[in-house]
Amino acid sequence: MPTLASPIATLPGIGPSTVAKLKKLGITTVLDLVSHFPIRHEDLRRITKIGSLHANTTVVLKGRLQLIESRHGYRRRRMNITEGLLTDGTGTVKIVWFNQPYLTSSFKAGDQVFVVGKLSTTEYGPQLQSPLIEKVGQKRLLAGRIVPVYPATAGISQRQLRSFILSALPATRSVPEWIPEPVRRAEHLIPLATALADIHFPTSHTKLAAAVERLKFGELLPFMMAVTSSNLARQSLAARPVPLATELTRSFVESLPFSLTDDQRRAAWDIVNDMAHPSPMRRLLEGDVGSGKTVVAAIAMHAAAQAGFQTLMLAPTDILARQHYETLIRLFGDSYSVALLTGSQAELHGTVHQTKRSLRQAINTGSASITVGTHALLTDTVRPPTLALVVVDEQHRFGVEQRRILQHKTSPMLPHLLSMTATPIPRTLALTLYGTLSVSLLRTLPAGRAQTETRIASTDTDALDTILEHCRNGRQAYVICPLIEESDALGVAAATAEYERLSRGPLAHVRCALLHGKQAAAHKQRILKQFAAGEIDVLISTPVVEVGIDVPNATVMLIEGAERFGLAQLHQLRGRIGRGTHPSVCVALTDSTDARTMQRLDAFQKTTDGFALAETDLTLRGSGDLYGIRQSGLPSFSLVSLGDISLMQRTRTVAEQLLADDPSLRNYPLLRAKIKGSLAAFHGE
Ligand code: ADP
Ligand code: MG
Repeated sequence: MPTLASPIATLPGIGPSTVAKLKKLGITTVLDLVSHFPIRHEDLRRITKIGSLHANTTVVLKGRLQLIESRHGYRRRRMNITEGLLTDGTGTVKIVWFNQPYLTSSFKAGDQVFVVGKLSTTEYGPQLQSPLIEKVGQKRLLAGRIVPVYPATAGISQRQLRSFILSALPATRSVPEWIPEPVRRAEHLIPLATALADIHFPTSHTKLAAAVERLKFGELLPFMMAVTSSNLARQSLAARPVPLATELTRSFVESLPFSLTDDQRRAAWDIVNDMAHPSPMRRLLEGDVGSGKTVVAAIAMHAAAQAGFQTLMLAPTDILARQHYETLIRLFGDSYSVALLTGSQAELHGTVHQTKRSLRQAINTGSASITVGTHALLTDTVRPPTLALVVVDEQHRFGVEQRRILQHKTSPMLPHLLSMTATPIPRTLALTLYGTLSVSLLRTLPAGRAQTETRIASTDTDALDTILEHCRNGRQAYVICPLIEESDALGVAAATAEYERLSRGPLAHVRCALLHGKQAAAHKQRILKQFAAGEIDVLISTPVVEVGIDVPNATVMLIEGAERFGLAQLHQLRGRIGRGTHPSVCVALTDSTDARTMQRLDAFQKTTDGFALAETDLTLRGSGDLYGIRQSGLPSFSLVSLGDISLMQRTRTVAEQLLADDPSLRNYPLLRAKIKGSLAAFHGE
């Protein structure tokens, strides 16, 4: 019999092609398979009488097949149509299946069957279209059960998945229980083996709820243990206090080309105060796109630099790192030496010809005061001796491991940590998840910003006219192309094709340029420089510009295939315009008519406040799939949602208790192993 560790090929009915498809879903072992949780269930226990059928609700019918036969379509000869008639004594209903000719060899007239489907009204009268069908008396996957519905399945049908998982369930009986027995008892949690079976095929809603609770608890506990123990460890570590220099900071703020908003002022003040303490700051700066987080970080860097300490600023892309580098040079002039280090760039302001090696030397001898960079900063060879501050921009783009590396460059001292994000993470949630994190909020945008109008359109004619009109007035525009095919992972092909089409056709008379992630760094840099300098009118791009780009003269954002973007991403894209004093226009282009898509785009059109959008997204999608969850930098749980605050609090208390009683978890080796695994898997902190 297969065990949890067995490869899935040991299960009946799984051949090489299925193995390949399942692999795409990250499923290679029996354990992976049973850990592929349903997104919802359908209750197919109640049987509806044909006589009381209503259109458009999914129902289970039980009856006798009066007839079942296949033929070619009348209008479309290549289509195979199977027709059937089902009767149950209260009525008869017509059934139609498309392109499933094998049905006539599995079922014949006179069979007692269950069918599961929806009654539709068609030009041929009411009928069930392509319902699922199974014989009465055989092993049933559907009728009479609460049935799991799985997330997108890469060419594997729900029916196949259900059948594979059902045949894998016996293997779960031997799964080791790793939640300590006393905890399970005190928290009334069912055993793991039962939970793994019941989350797929529960026999009641109560059992389903108990299974979900057990599994969520199991997702949260190792995470909470890891966070709690790292908080405990940090409490004993010291940081370099950066003495408050109120006057110097004030005169730096006065030298800025604008005056700070109240929230910026408050956040900056909190940060420099935190940094004055000998214990490491951990602060999250949250502010909507365009709210001016960078300058707040610059004030913190200024404070560190004037005290003679170094800063590392981590950005997710080359483009953004360079932009920050240039911004800081503008802000600091020659007061502090600012450097840029990415995989392909090494610069120290005011010097020529840096190699990565010579730049690392400048950092490691303390002569580069502020270094902006990408992942290149993480290498072991970057060791700033007087590091006092680490800034992580767009923190959701980084994993906990990367943050850990940055924080331990100066051990045993820890640098102060400032992370920045545009995703609204509720304060209670941040506190529950991370314990000791402080949060600063930038709630308002700087004054003087012009309005951004958002339009939804199904053709690009008007949008292209708008682009041309804005360009005639000296403004600039973005055209964003989505990834259309999976094989075009970075959207390079889509953007290139669109660039060809637009730059030769409708936009032939303005200066267009193409930007995508596969271009050489130097090339991208040149394009962005030209765009920032107004030498390019329209930037046609993959969603790489999504994050951070700041060109205030750009006033039109055309988002193609808008249905392919989530609300968070749409909002990020729109945040690229409306950064100056000129009125801006964002056009979301879609030919989708899907009701949910339209609802989402409608919300996008009506709301420009990212925090309000987050709430809308929450109500639209339910708590299971929160606004930008994957982008939020929060750990990616598979069952736990951000709404599970009270369960989070419960597990946190349990975690603290367990660690207080047995700090090295000597009695719970299985739990200890889980924590190690969880550290590698979660993002965030
Ligand atoms: P984000 O929070 O999205 O990172 P940025 O830091 O890029 O936003 O700031 C967006 C733009 O707003 C920049 O051009 C910046 O110079 C400008 N800015 C920041 N603060 C203010 C302010 N208080 N008044 C006017 N403009 C500001
Ligand atoms: Mg930013």
